[in-house]
Amino acid sequence: MSLPTYVQGAWFGGALLFIFGLKGMSSPASARKGIVVAGYGMLLAIAATFLIPGLKNLALMLAALAVGGAAAWISGKKVKMTDMPQMVAIYNGMGGGAAAAIAAIEFARGDAHSTVTTLLAVVGALIGAVSFTGSCVAWAKLQGVLKKAHRLPAQNAVNVVLAAISIGLGAAMVALAPAQPELILGFFVIALVLGLIVTLPIGGADMPVVISLFNAFTGLAVGFEGYVLGNPALIIAGIVVGAAGTLLTQLMAKAMNRPLSNILFTPMVAAGGGEAISGTMKEVGAIDAAAMMRYASKVVIVPGYGMAVAHAQHKVWEMTEILEEAGVEVKFAIHPVAGRMPGHMNVLLAEAGVPYDKIFDLEEINGEFGQADVALVIGANDVVNPSARTDKSSPIYGMPILNADLAQNVIVIKRGKGTGYSGVENALFYTDNCRMLYGDAQPMAGEIIQHLKSMA
Ligand code: NDP
Repeated sequence: MSLPTYVQGAWFGGALLFIFGLKGMSSPASARKGIVVAGYGMLLAIAATFLIPGLKNLALMLAALAVGGAAAWISGKKVKMTDMPQMVAIYNGMGGGAAAAIAAIEFARGDAHSTVTTLLAVVGALIGAVSFTGSCVAWAKLQGVLKKAHRLPAQNAVNVVLAAISIGLGAAMVALAPAQPELILGFFVIALVLGLIVTLPIGGADMPVVISLFNAFTGLAVGFEGYVLGNPALIIAGIVVGAAGTLLTQLMAKAMNRPLSNILFTPMVAAGGGEAISGTMKEVGAIDAAAMMRYASKVVIVPGYGMAVAHAQHKVWEMTEILEEAGVEVKFAIHPVAGRMPGHMNVLLAEAGVPYDKIFDLEEINGEFGQADVALVIGANDVVNPSARTDKSSPIYGMPILNADLAQNVIVIKRGKGTGYSGVENALFYTDNCRMLYGDAQPMAGEIIQHLKSMA
């Protein structure tokens, strides 16, 4: 069916808005505007769909929109900042699932398509289905529902066999199109199981890479199904998300110093592991921590997941302003996988109003720790664990870390002796130049602020 020009035009306009939106999201300063622009693009694309002449199932479409829109609105309003990574994972999975569902409907209808279109529909369905169940597992891991990495005996062989069966069934669907319902069902079941089985063993600190990979998968699946439906908005949005996700996957794999093949085929084993660490952790009080920073020339702050949990970013910025007024140079060091989603720390610091010129990436700041009088580690753990450099038995061995241990003094704010996401002990906490300031990051930053004010 050829669609009216105004529908095609509106979809194209929606696709352009997605691109402008994505451009906006490339900087924290314009990200909020970018997301709104992309939202208008989505609204335009959906509205145009209702202008297609002779549209059937209108009531079903409206009902689906009402249910999906209400669920997204309520969960978007209610979600806590610390739960954002899980939400991103599950929404990503929904995208992959939707792409697979579109393909399933097309196959079930049995309409005649060219071989190329059927092939693209099959490829999109396969990666969409894998992304759906894989993202559900990622959600369960980030939510803490699944606490362990589950590895099957002969895991890699199982992965290969399942992948080969799903590709074989997909090829049969292309060759025999229109395929029998049993074949279609078998293909989807195996593809969904493949997503589960591949993702279940992945744990430790590898999750950022997996989340980005499924993000790329969902984009590609949507792009392929857009081609099948002849919808330019879906094609462009899918390709843009696919490309962005692929770049992010590369960046994250580089940040972990782990080739993607290692992450998928030799995942880090369950949390824990690593050499035993000798020595003791030495405690410090808020007043001494405040004095160390107040009389320092240079302080580098390393935020991590704990800062997000504690919502401490505003207090951390208030503390920074006081230190700067006292003449201390303060910089923020951000590890690419700090927190629980790509860019997590940047988003929090931007929300608190920290200027971007004070925020530095790992490569930019790592050479400066040696000149810092104090490295203040606030709710970070894995990203400053020096075992990653030396301990071959550690599950995070090889991951580049922030060199906080090279500062003259290290102050670590955390609640107790909890390990990081990877589940390993942190050798930094036992070094001679490190002091532990135990407590929730927000009240602790508040106490430091009070002491700094009294030292003015
Ligand atoms: P970690 O998860 O390694 O450590 C966080 C630390 O914060 C814990 O040791 C915890 O110790 C402390 N903490 C928790 N709550 C509070 C609080 N309220 N106040 C003070 N401290 C608190 O965080 P990092 O940011 O260093 O590392 C991120 C890890 O997550 C990496 O392993 C990364 O691979 C992984 N990951 C990252 C993703 C991403 O996309 N960025 C996605 C998925 C995983 P205690 O309990 O003692 O307070």
